[in-house]
Amino acid sequence: MKGTFPINSFQSIQTPFYYYDTNLLRETLRTINMEAGKHEGFTVHYAVKANANPKLLNIIREAGLGADCVSGGEISASVKAGFPPSRIVYAGVGKSDWEINLALDKNIFCFNVESIPELEVINELAAKKGKTAQVAFRINPNVGAHTHANITTGLAENKFGIAMRDMESVIDTAMSMDNIRFIGLHFHIGSQILDMGDFEALCNRINGLQDELERHHVKVGHINVGGGLGIDYQHPNRLPIPDFKSYFTTYARHLKLRPGQKLHFELGRAIVGQCGSLITRTLYIKQGASKQFAIVDAGMTELIRPALYQAYHKIENLSSNEPAEAYDVVGPICESSDVFAKHIDINKSHRGDLLAIRSAGAYGEIMASGYNCRQLPQGYTSDELEAE
Ligand SMILES: *Cc1c(COP(=O)(O)O)cnc(C)c1O
Repeated sequence: MKGTFPINSFQSIQTPFYYYDTNLLRETLRTINMEAGKHEGFTVHYAVKANANPKLLNIIREAGLGADCVSGGEISASVKAGFPPSRIVYAGVGKSDWEINLALDKNIFCFNVESIPELEVINELAAKKGKTAQVAFRINPNVGAHTHANITTGLAENKFGIAMRDMESVIDTAMSMDNIRFIGLHFHIGSQILDMGDFEALCNRINGLQDELERHHVKVGHINVGGGLGIDYQHPNRLPIPDFKSYFTTYARHLKLRPGQKLHFELGRAIVGQCGSLITRTLYIKQGASKQFAIVDAGMTELIRPALYQAYHKIENLSSNEPAEAYDVVGPICESSDVFAKHIDINKSHRGDLLAIRSAGAYGEIMASGYNCRQLPQGYTSDELEAE
């Protein structure tokens, strides 16, 4: 089964480009609001780093989500897209002074702080402005996630967050600072997580940390569990909307929220992953000694995930229904890692065919580069193309 695409409108667009099915995006957002809305105090932010295309940001903001940013640029993009600063959170191990100042000027909701030196700088910069910065501490829960090693973030060996044994003293330090208001704890254990047991393990860890805080009479208003829910890259058409019901229910069942506490989520991939495809044309079919190559006009410059993480993306030939043949689908970039897939079956391809590289809405367009002096890809939505 292939996805449905407005192939006629594709013919006049310069490839490669990103195509976003905004109906699917809206349906995904409706599902999130419905499933999260069943639980008291659940609030969802969109992790802007997954895709900052302004057209998508607008749709996500319209659905009422907050924004989770990891840079000053993302804060600017979120504010520009109309996200209320009171719903913007800001994480990252290396926040520079201008970024902290920008966040203070915009009066964002919360800094997710990852070290004492960072806390000191935020306190100092806030003091200069006569402001109080709200902070949550990102705690490294030492919980492994069953995902690619490059995208686990919650292990003690990772660079992210504050060690659990330092939590108390860091909170004490924050409480003694004049321009800091400590409001919560933040976690994020990794990405593309499909095993709900990983999130359950995080809940258990947080329950233990909350017990410890209670023994020391420390109250926190906010728990932020980050994002990480994965999508089905193998079968983008089968379940295009991730299982948000199981995801939110896992937290509702296993996390012991204290009365009045808010639970924040920061989802990226699960929101935008399936709505995006990279559309490319076959340039040449090249016969090798033991295989054939489909050389396409998109490369790792437009979608780096296969080269960076050996990630799998389903590829469909939108222009052919001829019997399938095996191809290595490769790009034009002068790097051996510029390969989208090896030995995959697609309908027999000819020069000029349009191919869709699926599930590319997250960490696709936003990671594009100008390597080889290539132009950055454009992104088109189904709203725009259907209006034509
Ligand atoms: C990347 C990131 C997210 C989003 O991760 P997804 O796997 O795309 O849901 C959320 N929070 C933080 C702090 C992140 O760095």
